Amino acid sequence: MIDRMVEGMVSLDIQGNIEYANKQALHLLNVSDACNNIWELCTQYSLQELQLEFQQTITQQCERHCEVLLALHQPVWLEIHMYPSIDGVTMMLRDITEKKEIEKTIQDNHLKHVLLNEAAHHIISADEPKPMLDQLFTKLADYLDLDIYFNYMYDKESNRLKLLNFQGISDDTAKEIEWLEFGEAVCGYVAESKVRMVVEHINKSDHPRVQLVKGFGIKTYACHPLISYGRLIGTLSFGSSKRSQFTQDELNMIEIICNQVAIALERFLFISELKRSKEEADKANKAKSDFLSMISHELRTPLNTIVGYTNILLECTNERLSSYQEHKLQRIEESSMRLLNLINTIINITSLDSHEPLLYVTRSINLGDIIPETILNIQNYAAIKNIRIIDQTQPFHNKCFLADPYRLTQVIHNLLSNAIKYNHDEGIVYISCEWNHSSMTLFIKDTGIGISDDEVKNIFSPFYRVFHLHYNIEGSGLGLTLSKKWIEEMNGSIDVTSKLGEGSTFSITLPLTNKENSK
Ligand code: ADP
Repeated sequence: MIDRMVEGMVSLDIQGNIEYANKQALHLLNVSDACNNIWELCTQYSLQELQLEFQQTITQQCERHCEVLLALHQPVWLEIHMYPSIDGVTMMLRDITEKKEIEKTIQDNHLKHVLLNEAAHHIISADEPKPMLDQLFTKLADYLDLDIYFNYMYDKESNRLKLLNFQGISDDTAKEIEWLEFGEAVCGYVAESKVRMVVEHINKSDHPRVQLVKGFGIKTYACHPLISYGRLIGTLSFGSSKRSQFTQDELNMIEIICNQVAIALERFLFISELKRSKEEADKANKAKSDFLSMISHELRTPLNTIVGYTNILLECTNERLSSYQEHKLQRIEESSMRLLNLINTIINITSLDSHEPLLYVTRSINLGDIIPETILNIQNYAAIKNIRIIDQTQPFHNKCFLADPYRLTQVIHNLLSNAIKYNHDEGIVYISCEWNHSSMTLFIKDTGIGISDDEVKNIFSPFYRVFHLHYNIEGSGLGLTLSKKWIEEMNGSIDVTSKLGEGSTFSITLPLTNKENSK
């Protein structure tokens, strides 16, 4: 009956000699008869545990149990229950190898998932390739017993591979193997074939391709091509000097990680390409600004002389000039002044582009300081064009806001001048304003020709002018560009709404002073 039991049963004396074993126990322990000593069957690791439990069963005279790995013809996990007997211990044995294997697979899978998750996290959140790969390697090194990683990147100019990131070798050695030709060593071969290569037992191999890594004491090595959108961007390889091969599961995991790394590296390449393009564009823009600024300064000096001498001629030698000559001189003066204004505008725009420090400072002002004087200065021009200016801002003249008075006056002058210039005969220009708890908005509305929806988004761009079939209106296309830049420098904004044929409304919004805020 004892022989027909599912469990193995063994009687031991106090030395651990097997006095009796049923059929199942003989099978589990892989012995032919009951003449063995149980300790001889244990691995070193399980021996201690088993002996301890054995002693305690005897001394405490109570049931004990444990799970141990026995060193039989193949490893066997046994669950052992021990019961004290008159002259020793009786053990009940059950084979739990399968259960242990399932537990180990579950544990391994869990570890692999944790590792893959952590790897993905590093890859997604990294800002630079080197720290990303180093951190990744540290994580993988523990799990896979790695000693080395190489990341070669494809260098388009030389059509070779360049070692950009690595660990496990010195900087001097890295210098020696910095460049690889396509087809050279394992990485060069992988880059050429775009196929993963896994080499095992390198210490026993004489193949010329693996001699480089063999020289680093590497025994197993897995090299992956890094491919993004079908294009080779480099290779990534991992090597171990402690193991002779990776399992298929481990190789699969390395492959998943390499694919993620390829995407991340492609992202880094793209970002650095964007940065480079932006730097080049900034440089070109600066060169253009510098050139414009230099030319404008050079033009301004002789032009000032022309304006000055024209003035002198007009003022001092009036009597000796015929009215024809005087008229022509006035034309010279007008044109020179227009040219001078244009040059001054260009200088202002280019100096803003080069981020030169502002000459005028934003401070607390009120509308009363600005609006009446600006209207007065433009009144003549409005009268010539038969335009009426209606100021609706008087009730707010004492209210304070933040602005640079010189620049704001220029901007309002520019908007008023446009509202007159692009208006119909007998048109009207309204100036009004609105206040809220944090800002002030000034509106300059005209009843003029208006701007179409297509054009309105471009009018703040330098030199942009709307083409009008029926009107020939002079201008440079720079006034609004400069106005926008200046208002933004004052932490404000400028906007426009317009309807073709009906008129436009330009608005300037500026922050209030602290004093106003606290009211
Ligand atoms: P300019 O008036 O010297 O051409 P701006 O930069 O001041 O340059 O204006 C750019 C363009 O925007 C003008 O050419 C004009 O077509 C359009 N524009 C500006 N203000 C108005 C307005 N009040 N009404 C209609 N069009 C305008």
